[in-house]
Amino acid sequence: MKFEYPEDREFFANLLAGGVEERLEAEFSDYFDFRHPAIKRWEFDKFRKKLMPELVEKYGGQCQLRLHPDCSKEEVYQIDHIIPLASNELNKKLRHMGRTSTEKVPPQSFGSNNLKNLTLACKRCNAFKKHRMILPTST
Ligand SMILES: [Zn+2]
Repeated sequence: MKFEYPEDREFFANLLAGGVEERLEAEFSDYFDFRHPAIKRWEFDKFRKKLMPELVEKYGGQCQLRLHPDCSKEEVYQIDHIIPLASNELNKKLRHMGRTSTEKVPPQSFGSNNLKNLTLACKRCNAFKKHRMILPTST
């Protein structure tokens, strides 16, 4: 996979593959798509309606994030990208970029629309997670 920086590869190996970069390549390449986020969002918007019932069935209507004390209290579900389509988290965390008065820290393209990278989240947990990279319990 073509990560922009070697430390990004290391970050995702730690997050997903117990720190083993070969395992990241072998088992998690479907989670990534480095094309422009706008293309990925456009593709996602086209199939999200059809996908929702599939994910509700796959996970038995259970939120997979379980982050918030009020998880699933309101039965409103959303589709969450486990690895976000775009994120500036690594630019902030690993490269210590800060926003300036005129510019935000630039995002990088990471996550894919592959079914493996999509999970069911209740509204509450999804709002709580924001754009942080937190793995669902089933990963
Ligand atoms: Zn939840």
